Amino acid sequence: MKEIRLKKGKESSLERFHPWIFSGALESTSPALSEGDIVKVLAHDGKVLGYGDWQIGSIAVRMLAFGECYPDFQHFMNLINDAWMMRKALKLKNHLNDTFRLIHGEGDFLPGLIVDIYGPTAVVQAHSAGMHLRRMDIARALVAVQGLGVENVFYKSETTLPFKANLNPRDGYIIGEYSGSVAIENGLKFNIDWLKGQKTGFFIDQRDNRLRLSNYSSGRTVLNMFCYTGGFSVYALKGGAKEVVSVDSSAKAISLTEENVRLNFDQTIATRHQSVTEDAFKYLETLPQGKFDCIVLDPPAFAKHRDAVPNALRGYQKLNAAAMRKIAPHSFLFTFSCSQAVSKEQFRLAVFSAAASVGRRVRILHQLTQPADHPVNIYHPEGEYLKGLVLYIE
Ligand code: SAH
Repeated sequence: MKEIRLKKGKESSLERFHPWIFSGALESTSPALSEGDIVKVLAHDGKVLGYGDWQIGSIAVRMLAFGECYPDFQHFMNLINDAWMMRKALKLKNHLNDTFRLIHGEGDFLPGLIVDIYGPTAVVQAHSAGMHLRRMDIARALVAVQGLGVENVFYKSETTLPFKANLNPRDGYIIGEYSGSVAIENGLKFNIDWLKGQKTGFFIDQRDNRLRLSNYSSGRTVLNMFCYTGGFSVYALKGGAKEVVSVDSSAKAISLTEENVRLNFDQTIATRHQSVTEDAFKYLETLPQGKFDCIVLDPPAFAKHRDAVPNALRGYQKLNAAAMRKIAPHSFLFTFSCSQAVSKEQFRLAVFSAAASVGRRVRILHQLTQPADHPVNIYHPEGEYLKGLVLYIE
């Protein structure tokens, strides 16, 4: 069994079940470790702390199991079953909803693995070499879970694995094949492009927040910035919005949004929707004041790393100030950050600075986060990445 030994004192975070070992904590390693090897993790004094996936990078080991128990196939099967038991308890699979996240990496004790369920299809994404190497085992485990109903497994890791590891993942079905591509979320339909879409094809993490928008949309004019597949726009129309405008800089995103509007509504409702292919900042600059009384700002992560945080905070401030300047009185602003490196407090401070610079009366109505199928492992606070505020602006 290949091993790694930690420097003195570096075992304490593992004793508190934090699942990452940074390369700087390593005292020594077995010779000729390959990326994706399972290693036995030893404290400086030789005590066995657990087992994890080895990889070259600042996170050197992602822990799979703590203590003496080796993570065999049954271990992964048990964790996948546990994840399903939890989603079952959350009642996420029902006649109105067949779309949910089954495995949320560290949040389901499976670092480096994401699995999203779209009806009979599971989309598997590996973020570590180890998960890439065991993808067939994971796929077989998913099909074997009683009651989950997975028949096809699509593997989508071309953009999520370190290219230097030479793993050369190919996106495509690894079990079965499915000709359908429509996901159902809260009774609404969305066309999912597994092959080319961002993430696993859809932003499942905004499900609860989209529903909240729907509840507040009746009679409103809604601007959905950074619309991607038009999730918020479809929910706003469903909630009775008078008018919805979707904006995205990508023409492909705009065509996905239009397709999803058509998929859910007849002509009378669909005509309330318009879309614009444009940069969000430019669009807000020329927007007449008071046209919208509900705005959604759900940009891509402005900070992918810690070094980018100061710039990202300036970006959030600028974007929120631009929207606050133009929004009508007595309006809702739904504003989000999905940057893991930006904390809840930092994001709120950026939004506060935006409000202060615009000088309007602003109140926080809701503080939003990711839904329950994106759980945060309490020992891994880094897993909390989505934050949002619903503001009332006068
Ligand atoms: N709100 C979406 C997810 C947003 S993903 C949902 O609920 O599914 C981020 C989107 O922002 C992408 O579609 C990307 O094309 C778009 N985008 C990135 N930079 C942009 C910019 N400067 N202006 C407008 N759209 C942008």
